[in-house]
Amino acid sequence: MKKNIKAMDNNLKQRLMAYMAGNLSCRETAELVTNYLEGSLTFWERLRFQMHLGLCFACRNYLRQMKYTIATLRQLPPDPVPPQMKEELLKRFRTWKQQSPRASGHPDTE
Ligand SMILES: [Zn+2]
Repeated sequence: MKKNIKAMDNNLKQRLMAYMAGNLSCRETAELVTNYLEGSLTFWERLRFQMHLGLCFACRNYLRQMKYTIATLRQLPPDPVPPQMKEELLKRFRTWKQQSPRASGHPDTE
């Protein structure tokens, strides 16, 4: 009986963690990434966002890629970049990133 209670306790902890992080789906997290990087999330949004990141490798990876992409885009000349071109860059960057065996490149080692 005692064993059962302990198992239940563990289960509860896991469920609590899942609940805290699970408030955000991966899709929602991805949607918050831009706001997060702009610093425009509320305290609770940021907390949940970070909780999700703590538990979700895919979203951590996504955030890292976004940061890298933004850094790359910022290095472009200040002339207006057509949105399609930006999209194209982002797309290419993502596929390149997925194919590249080295996941931790540095923006200024071109
Ligand atoms: Zn996720």
